[in-house]
Amino acid sequence: MIMKKQSHQGFGTYCVHAGHVPDPNYAHLTPIYASSTFVFDTAEQGMNRFTGKEKGYIYTRWGNPNFTEAEQKIAALETHQLHDSQGNPLQAKAILHASGMAALTTLFLSELHAGDKIITHLSLYGGTDELLQKILPGLGVEPIIMDMHDLQRVEDVLKKEKHIRMMYLETPANPTLRCVDLEACIRLAQQYHLVTAVDNTFASPYLQQPFRYGADYVFHSTTKFLNGHGTAVGGVLVGRDVEKMEQHVTKVARLLGGNSNAFDAYLLTLGMKTLELRMQRHCENAVQIANFLDNHQAVSKVNYPGLTSHPDYAIAQKQMKHPGAILSFELKEGLSAGKKFIDRLQLCIRAVSLGTCDTLVSHPASMTHYGIPREQREKSGITDGLIRMSVGIENIEDLLADLDQALS
Ligand SMILES: *Cc1c(COP(=O)(O)O)cnc(C)c1O
Repeated sequence: MIMKKQSHQGFGTYCVHAGHVPDPNYAHLTPIYASSTFVFDTAEQGMNRFTGKEKGYIYTRWGNPNFTEAEQKIAALETHQLHDSQGNPLQAKAILHASGMAALTTLFLSELHAGDKIITHLSLYGGTDELLQKILPGLGVEPIIMDMHDLQRVEDVLKKEKHIRMMYLETPANPTLRCVDLEACIRLAQQYHLVTAVDNTFASPYLQQPFRYGADYVFHSTTKFLNGHGTAVGGVLVGRDVEKMEQHVTKVARLLGGNSNAFDAYLLTLGMKTLELRMQRHCENAVQIANFLDNHQAVSKVNYPGLTSHPDYAIAQKQMKHPGAILSFELKEGLSAGKKFIDRLQLCIRAVSLGTCDTLVSHPASMTHYGIPREQREKSGITDGLIRMSVGIENIEDLLADLDQALS
């Protein structure tokens, strides 16, 4: 069944094995359960599955063996080597969704009600920012967006505003790689009895585990590093209150209908088997590229939390195993040079998204953040000439050669 936590300690071993249940037909990997519904032997069995007396699948919007495997693997990785206050291995439950945005919607609809406020910070993922600013207000939920580096100011707001229910954090954040201090922010949120949720997409559980600092929820767009190959869009919501996840949050997720599907869940499970290996290579490559760009005469600025010049270098050092595989940079000659550079790339792929084996290069001002007014964009460091790179797992010599020829 599910791996016993004591018997296999390594993160990579968890990546490969956690969540797997032996197949009744002895298939090595869990086959793709492309079936919308599941059969009952008798009316009584159907009743028992509905009431939860008997474990078993009913209907794929409610659950599917491929979802369960991916969910249990993710929960195992996010709690790997963590313990609860009694010293027992930390438990968590994950619910897989059709996309990151679907998982976020389940989170917000599960925890927020009309009259509540949600406190968060600048430069969130574009879709999250729009959900907070354009959709939640219509449901009576107001976002408070501020700089979370000045914790005194955050505390002043928490003291004054009585209806804040949730603190929502994303670190590192798109595309300037600003980080927030998870330990300090979550501790403050807990003093004011807020629910805390962290978008851990950029880091992956290999680099950072928000549950270590007491977060209530961890969220991922599984489309990125967890899938790792760019084969399927998906999202996951992981919660530490297992009872609440199994009851209320599961209910909301099932009624919202943003469920995954068997094939995407299968691809995700397959991708996660190599998460540790991939992350190690992604990260090694990213450091070398950050240093190369930082020393290149055509580049005016590199945003990478592993460079001592990055404003959040110390925060990244404290809470991440490694500063990660995403970076952004600006060319001295601005927008026109940026476009030329992108067009000249021969190996790196011109595309949005991140976390794939292939190195992806995008231009936030005209792509991911084009809907955000320029002044607001520039406030979060997204200038017209900024280029974002998700560093892949190719051989470093080839990546550097491609960048070098595109910059010259
Ligand atoms: C991609 C992404 C999302 C949204 O996820 P989808 O899978 O595209 O719905 C949310 N947060 C971050 C940090 C992301 O990169």
